[in-house]
Amino acid sequence: MLLKGKKILITGVANDWSMAWAIAQRAHENGAEIAMPYGHPNVEKRVRPLAEKIGAKFVQECNVQNDEQMDALFDAIKREWGHLDGVLHAIAFSDKNELTGRYADTTRENFKNTMDISVYSLVDLTRRAAPLMTDGGSVVALTYYGGEKSVPNYNVMGVAKSALESSVRYLASDLGRDKIRVNAISAGPILTLASSAVGGMKGLLRLNAEQTPLRRNMTLADVSGAALYLFSDLSSGVTGETHHVDCGYNSTGMIPNELKEILLKKLDEDK
Ligand code: NAD
Repeated sequence: MLLKGKKILITGVANDWSMAWAIAQRAHENGAEIAMPYGHPNVEKRVRPLAEKIGAKFVQECNVQNDEQMDALFDAIKREWGHLDGVLHAIAFSDKNELTGRYADTTRENFKNTMDISVYSLVDLTRRAAPLMTDGGSVVALTYYGGEKSVPNYNVMGVAKSALESSVRYLASDLGRDKIRVNAISAGPILTLASSAVGGMKGLLRLNAEQTPLRRNMTLADVSGAALYLFSDLSSGVTGETHHVDCGYNSTGMIPNELKEILLKKLDEDK
């Protein structure tokens, strides 16, 4: 019961594949009360039954681009809870047509929209949550390695993740004196509604599993365990950090020998 009595706002649940759902369940199992708004009317019918399973509150539409809906959510939390201990930011969006091909072809409109939904929302959520975190708090955002290095097809979402990770550091610096910690989990790839929009995702998952030091892909249990730690007092001295939960992928500099041999053989055959 690492989160006993804590009140945590979980954003980004779309269905039972969502990383946010795994984290919501883990937090609930560990004693937290959960607020679980949804981002779009299309997902309401999937989110409501999940929310019921864990007795989540504030199951209301909250599109992060809609200031009235953001106001309504935080007014309701202030009125009924008067307090928050944690916020999970698990929100990302970009035009699927631009998550394939060249980053150089990104349009101005999609660049701005991707940054607004996937990055500014963290700033907005954190600023609104901070006054409710009267005993300190923990904000956790989800990012991906494509924010550190270029990854084929990830394109403008990679640029958004760089900005998200940088925002984590700036927010941590702003809010540390109020005992509010801000961290990111850099999760390995996993199939979800959002990730299926990235071109070539299935192939990336196959290859990734062969490339990580642990020789497998990250699981929902891996990411929810890390989130549990970051929401709990066990991580009381950690802020401004991007914590990799990717089976070690980011620590490697070259594909493993097994893969290298297969690739070299194929290259020789194709000559
Ligand atoms: P998901 O599709 O389950 O979650 C994405 C969520 O963003 C959805 O719930 C969607 O409703 C919400 N959203 C989109 N636009 C919104 C808006 N305008 N207002 C409010 N909510 C909005 O997919 P996921 O993979 O669980 O994504 C959660 C987070 O994890 C994202 O930030 C994603 O980039 C990140 N991430 C995913 C992977 C992966 O491989 N799946 C890896 C690393 C990081």
